[in-house]
Amino acid sequence: MLLSYTAARQKVIEIAQAQRHQPAREVLDLPRACGRVLSDPVVADRDYPPFDRSTRDGFAVRAADLSAPGMTLKRVGEVKAGDNFERGVSAGECVQIMTGAPVPAGTDAVVMIEFTSMSGDRVTFEREATAGQNIVPRGSEGRGGQQLLAAGTRLGYAEMAVAAQVGAARIGVFAMPRVAILSTGDEVVDMTATPGPFQVRNGNSLSVETLVALSGGQPEQIGNAPDEKAALRRYIERGLTADVLVLSGGVSMGKYDLVEEVLTELGAEFFFDGVAIRPGRPAVFGRCQSKLVFGLPGNPVSTMVTFELFVVPALDVLSGTHPRPLPFVGARLAAAVHEKGAMAHFLPAYLDQANGEPRISVLPWKGSGDIVTIARANAFLVVPEDRPDWAAGDWAPVLLRRGPEGASR
Ligand code: AMP
Ligand code: MG
Repeated sequence: MLLSYTAARQKVIEIAQAQRHQPAREVLDLPRACGRVLSDPVVADRDYPPFDRSTRDGFAVRAADLSAPGMTLKRVGEVKAGDNFERGVSAGECVQIMTGAPVPAGTDAVVMIEFTSMSGDRVTFEREATAGQNIVPRGSEGRGGQQLLAAGTRLGYAEMAVAAQVGAARIGVFAMPRVAILSTGDEVVDMTATPGPFQVRNGNSLSVETLVALSGGQPEQIGNAPDEKAALRRYIERGLTADVLVLSGGVSMGKYDLVEEVLTELGAEFFFDGVAIRPGRPAVFGRCQSKLVFGLPGNPVSTMVTFELFVVPALDVLSGTHPRPLPFVGARLAAAVHEKGAMAHFLPAYLDQANGEPRISVLPWKGSGDIVTIARANAFLVVPEDRPDWAAGDWAPVLLRRGPEGASR
């Protein structure tokens, strides 16, 4: 029986975790660490915010002075971001304050400038004030010494800001898993070659390289192996020097699909060799000479879908972080969909908005070889195996296609 894609993915995670692979640690300049996984926690070097900070332009006041609307206070000075108001503030006084400035001692609320009017040094307030309003208290985002980012966190743009804020200009990260990329097929030629009439240029090696890079792995191109056992074995042996080997092609039922046979000869054990998905059904996952091996189907869209589903979580685990969840969202179906049951279908689709709601439109396509349509898609509609029929307007599961290029059409 074929595994469901969720069960197959779970299997990958389990086996990757059992590898007990302790990634090496390296120290990088922070700007070069985007996308990497922290080997050490990022700790607050002081309280955040370091002082009671105003979140508005306005007036710092004693809330007790503004117990009713229409009260007037004396403006005794101003404080801007980066400065401090040294002298205390007494009853009946207020200080003009800018966003990001420290709230003067003696005051306990900030009133937005929009709710005030000034005449000379007299400021009239339209509303009463409540203690604490428009102030973020010192240490409320993080105390000095507190962990702000745990080891195992992948550094995205927000995490980069946190690390920069605490002065972590050099940062400890785990080494990326090395991922060998091996395409197979007698018909496949290099992208720089002029193909014969029945040959195809190698697109998979580059889509896989891009996926590896987007997923935080270190890609290593092994090339394209012919559909001949001895040669294929030599290529695979070279690929097994990396942490993970990703093959494309040669895992279907054809007479020249030799990948599993050669891997078996090299001592591989397999955890699955088929998944109930379309495209991607023949996907293979095993371990060979203590390395994780993925045999992805050669049809280019199958290669991409199975990489997202099965290789990405393995790379996360080997990178020292938790496997990221699949990026599912819900959206309203633009038109009815019917797919044959028993398999989960991943259909190229375009996610946008209509009437203030996410809308998903399936793109007409020619099946698992149709990379041109995938290049126009930004998502997959996922039709689950147990529900083949969907009506226009149904709220349906959508898997986002990752990457910087996702939004074009
Ligand atoms: P296979 O999985 O080896 O049976 O290949 C399935 C289909 O994918 C065939 O039409 C192949 O020509 C095509 N294919 C396999 N490898 C590649 C590749 N590296 N680049 C582009 N197409 C490929
Ligand atoms: Mg082939």
